[in-house]
Amino acid sequence: MSAELPGMKLPSVTGIAPADVVDAHMHVGDFPLFNVRMDADTLRATFAHYGISAGMVFHPDNQYVREVVDSVDGAYGLVWANPHREGFLEEAVELFDHPRFLGVKLHPLLDAYHPNDPALHPLIQELIARDMPVLIHCGHPIFTLPWSIEELAVSFPDAKVILGHMGHGNIVYINGAIDVAQRNANVYLETSGMPMHTKITEAIDRVGEHKVMYGSDAPFHEVGVEIRKVQVSGLGPEMLDRVLAKNARLLFFGDEEASAPVHR
Ligand SMILES: [Zn+2]
Repeated sequence: MSAELPGMKLPSVTGIAPADVVDAHMHVGDFPLFNVRMDADTLRATFAHYGISAGMVFHPDNQYVREVVDSVDGAYGLVWANPHREGFLEEAVELFDHPRFLGVKLHPLLDAYHPNDPALHPLIQELIARDMPVLIHCGHPIFTLPWSIEELAVSFPDAKVILGHMGHGNIVYINGAIDVAQRNANVYLETSGMPMHTKITEAIDRVGEHKVMYGSDAPFHEVGVEIRKVQVSGLGPEMLDRVLAKNARLLFFGDEEASAPVHR
C-alpha cells in the first residue's frame, strides 16, 4: 500500500470545527472500482484531520477490520454479515465478544438478498440479545429500498435498525426512509451520501431528535463535505452536536457522553 490514491489526500479545512464527531459509516480497504482506499494509516489521519473521536468501520473481510480496530484509536468495527457466506453467523457471534465490535453492517444490494431473509433472523436475535444495532445500506432497488428494510424492522420491533444513507440519492427513497423511521420507533437514519441538507432538519422534526446520525461513507464520500452538509442543514448548535456525535454515541455506546463502549 504505497501509491497515493485520490481518497487519501486530505484537503485543508476552513470554518468552525464541530465540538465532536462520531462517524457512523466508514469503509476500510482497497476499492479499485472506485479508485479509492482507506487503510489504518489513512483512517488515523482522517480522524485527526476532522476531529473524529470515534468511527464505525467495516469491510467484507471482518478479520481485516479486526486488525484495523486493534491498531487505530477511535476505530470500532461493525461485522459485515452476508447470509450467503457459510459460517457468517458464527463469525459474527465470535466478533461480538471483541470489545471494539459494536454491531453489524448489511449490504443486501451487493450481497443479493432480501433484508428480511429468514437466514438473517438468528443474527438479528443475537443483536437484540446484546442491544447492538444493525446498519443497512438503504436507497437502491431491488433489495435496499426503505420499505423492504421496514419488513425486517416490523418483524423485529426490538432490533435497532439504521437506514444507512437514509434513502441515498432519490427524493422518493429519501422521503420513504423518513416515513419508515417515523412510523417505526426502532428505525434510525444515517446521513451519508444523501444530498439534500434540508432533509436532515425535516428528519429530526419528523422522526425525533435521537434518531438521526451523521455518517460519511468515507472513502467514497469526502468527510469534510458530509460534515458540512449537516452543519448547513439549519439545525441549532445543540441539535448539531446530537446529529454529529451524541446520537451515534448513544446508539453504539449506550451513552451519549461515553468515550468507550459500555461492557456488554
Ligand atoms: Zn457505505
